[in-house]
Amino acid sequence: MAGTEPADQRIIVVGAGIIGICCALALRENGFAVTVLDKDGPGEATSFGAAGNLGGNAHFAIPGLIWKLPRMLLDPRHPLSLRWRDLPELVAWFRRYSSYAPAEHAARVSKAGAALSAGIFEAYATLLRDAGAPDLLTKHGRLFVWSTDAGWHKDQYGLAIRRQRGIHLDEMSGDQVREMEPALGPIVRRGVYAPDAGHIVNPHRLVTVLAALLRAKGGEIRRESVRTIELATDGHPIVVTSEGRREADQVVLAAGVWSRDFAAGLGTPIPLVAERGYHAMMPEPGVAMKVSTLWEERKIIVTPMEHGLRASGIAEFAVREAPPRYKLAERVKRSALALIPGLRDVGSTRWMGRRPVTPDYLPVIGRAPRHPNVIFAFGHGHSGYNLGPATGRLVGEIAAGRTPNIDIAPYRPDRF
Ligand SMILES: Cc1cc2nc3c(=O)[nH]c(=O)nc-3n(C[C@H](O)[C@H](O)[C@H](O)COP(=O)(O)OP(=O)(O)OC[C@H]3O[C@@H](n4cnc5c(N)ncnc54)[C@H](O)[C@@H]3O)c2cc1C
Repeated sequence: MAGTEPADQRIIVVGAGIIGICCALALRENGFAVTVLDKDGPGEATSFGAAGNLGGNAHFAIPGLIWKLPRMLLDPRHPLSLRWRDLPELVAWFRRYSSYAPAEHAARVSKAGAALSAGIFEAYATLLRDAGAPDLLTKHGRLFVWSTDAGWHKDQYGLAIRRQRGIHLDEMSGDQVREMEPALGPIVRRGVYAPDAGHIVNPHRLVTVLAALLRAKGGEIRRESVRTIELATDGHPIVVTSEGRREADQVVLAAGVWSRDFAAGLGTPIPLVAERGYHAMMPEPGVAMKVSTLWEERKIIVTPMEHGLRASGIAEFAVREAPPRYKLAERVKRSALALIPGLRDVGSTRWMGRRPVTPDYLPVIGRAPRHPNVIFAFGHGHSGYNLGPATGRLVGEIAAGRTPNIDIAPYRPDRF
């Protein structure tokens, strides 16, 4: 590791989602030989169906959530959902989550998240220029809308945190919102516009074109299922896959929510759970929209994509491999139809994905505490697209033995 030139080192990246591909590109940039392993094609798991929003938001634990949970879960229109039989497994996670709710933690967590999403548009603009697909990125801002005054007042805490993080927000009346996005219906009473935000118009195609860029730059992507990560007696990692044993100088673990099993096998249990989200894709929506819009009371986002209108949302806490409950995607769609009166759902499709979430909603980035030749890069929750390029940059610097130019302590694997 240390003292060896990057060009002499092979790094295996486990996982070809947005995080694994961003890491692999940055590692190539640093001169390493890179092989990415994924059991499926690039971007086919959680990264496939994201809403693609960039900027405008901040993440933090909601104070008192644990006490509000029962009422939220009994409300059939609330975005939070739980498979009750999985509750025992999730209780420990929720307890930890609640410990991050006090205001000082919220400030620290949202600051650490913001440090990773700074410069996101420039980072994607460069990558997409190199990939020949600059059209995937738009910067038309984002809208956040409310249908009730009560909802608007309740969300002032979250808006204050966003403003503290330097996010510019313009308040609007319902009519001003409709002037900007005429497809939105009379249900909208208030809005906030974040002009410096934007979105990716097809998240899966983004990962696909970045994977092609990686190949063009000499990186390798192989379709193999990883069984375990072992350590040779001299400490170098061996990745055991469906196809055999692959030796490497370093390994980057970027397998999204599935990283938990490998991290535990390496002696570092991480409280990583699946917060499952759903989308409904309307290929012929019958309305034209430009700005991605989040309806705050229902926590559903409608995003204009290059291949239709995507309505996404739901925070379903369930064990990772539980079967999808597509009625939740239907719930998302019904909310979209209520928000946008002219929306047509003919030919719509449904999807479920697993956001990899830690109790403080920050990713895990850094060397594995007990095995320094393995670097962790997972747990990006709701923000994998926002945090991908910066995660890649940090992983590249860590692998090369350079000191990262931001403080990486908030993302330490041993912080729990
Ligand atoms: C409904 C929804 C909306 C979202 N909207 C946004 C948004 O607007 N903006 C944003 O920034 N983020 C958003 N996200 C979050 C974002 O999608 C995730 O944070 C991101 O996709 C995580 O990427 P990842 O690469 O870590 O994981 P994944 O995309 O899940 O990739 C992990 C990869 O590891 C592979 N893998 C797993 N196990 C193995 C194994 N044993 N062997 C080989 N390969 C393996 C998988 O096949 C997979 O390809 C959203 C998520 C959801 C569900």
